[in-house]
Amino acid sequence: MAQELTRTQRLHAGLIDAIDGIVWEADANFRFTFVSKQAERLVGYPLQQWMQEPDFWVKHLHPEDRAWAPAFCTRATQECRPHEFEYRMIAANGRTVWLRDIVTVVSEEGIPRRLRGIMVDVTEERRAREKLEHTVSLLCATLDSTADGVIVVDRHRRITASNRRFHELWRVPPELVDTSDWEKVFAHVRSQVQHPEPFTARIQELYADPEQEGVDLVELRDGRIIERYSRPQRLGGATVGRVWSYRDVTVERRAQAERERLLREAQEAIRVRDDFLSIASHELKTPLTPLKLHLQVLKQRVAAGRPISTPQVEKALAQVARLSGLINDLLDTSRIQAGRLELRHEPVSLRELTREVLADLRPVSAEHALEYEEPDEPLVIEGDRGRLAQVLVNLLENALKYSPTGGSIRVRVERDGARALVSVSDSGIGIPPDQKAHLFERFFRARNAPISGFGGLGLGLYICRDIIEHHGGSIWVESEVGCGSTFRFTLPVMEHH
Ligand code: ADP
Repeated sequence: MAQELTRTQRLHAGLIDAIDGIVWEADANFRFTFVSKQAERLVGYPLQQWMQEPDFWVKHLHPEDRAWAPAFCTRATQECRPHEFEYRMIAANGRTVWLRDIVTVVSEEGIPRRLRGIMVDVTEERRAREKLEHTVSLLCATLDSTADGVIVVDRHRRITASNRRFHELWRVPPELVDTSDWEKVFAHVRSQVQHPEPFTARIQELYADPEQEGVDLVELRDGRIIERYSRPQRLGGATVGRVWSYRDVTVERRAQAERERLLREAQEAIRVRDDFLSIASHELKTPLTPLKLHLQVLKQRVAAGRPISTPQVEKALAQVARLSGLINDLLDTSRIQAGRLELRHEPVSLRELTREVLADLRPVSAEHALEYEEPDEPLVIEGDRGRLAQVLVNLLENALKYSPTGGSIRVRVERDGARALVSVSDSGIGIPPDQKAHLFERFFRARNAPISGFGGLGLGLYICRDIIEHHGGSIWVESEVGCGSTFRFTLPVMEHH
């Protein structure tokens, strides 16, 4: 019998020692009366110390747990309640050991007598949990501090995560901030997109192929440009959802477009300058050849003692006039560029001025009929006589130049309300529609002008526009290729003249 008992006791002792935890018993004041051998392995200290050292348990608790853990246990013990809690003990080697203690209270007539329990080492579990919590908090902080709006949607179209920036970017109303209903949030997002159809189609496409990644640009109705990036969310080997991240790239895109525009403009300016240099040198050289010829002939005549021929001198002078006209245009252009084109302010009758300009021009236009439709009032404006004459001459010379086969050139001066309207029409080569807008730009020559072999620097109309606009007027052209052109300008009339 006694033998049998010892055998059972030994069996129990063996089983207890084999348990991966400290099996223990203590009195109601936490004084251990039994601890299994694992105590030495898990926490250290000889078993006798566990049982004999007064307040052993409390003394070897981690300082941060020394107050609350005994208090918690005492209360549960007094209430004869089984309890479970986790705390730290400082092991004999100084290591901190996390223990989960599962305690039952043995009571007699409602009075707690003994405590029995098992302490399990949960250090690894705690570390893993702490690491996980740390990682999660890191992820949350990262997610909330990133400049991208992020939303994660699972396979069942439920939102599993989203960050503050996403809500800001898409102006998500407060009632939708915490919802997991992707459809509702999507409807809100979609309503802000400029082209909702392709936007939705692309999303469907990405959902249909869970492995696909994609970057797209999305234009919003309010003008913002958003870059959308989407990639699958993988867990283990499986795809469990999709991450959508949105970035506001409006400023970058605008800056890029602006840079491209400036580059194009710079390239265009370089091209215009190069073209201009070759045109200008050609144009300046053109009158020189006949001029030289005329002067040589004159020199020979003088050397031979023959009289100087007036037509020869006039021809030479005409080339000089052409040269000085070109140089004046160049000078005027640089004056305009520097904002230094000065204008006089005097009353000028447009009726008389046009009459005079036409009279001066008639001798040079033998093949063209010049018609003048006069107003029945002088139409006085305030301005610079010379400069206004320059505009008329320029328009008339162009009309002559760009209607090489002759034909009539009609000038009409009339009143149009408070303004005078001057029109110069020819039946010449006309201007291609896409070029009209550029005619008044510096150095611009219409596509069909150089081909037709007419000389010119492309400055005349630029100067005309500047002069007219400085007089408070405007200038434009109406034209059809092959049928001729009509240049018109208006000027404010000075009343009481
Ligand atoms: P330029 O005649 O010296 O080239 P302008 O500034 O006077 O320069 O004119 C600019 C361009 O406008 C001309 O090169 C020509 O292509 C076009 N243009 C001007 N007037 C006429 C016109 N009456 N008919 C057709 N094209 C014209």
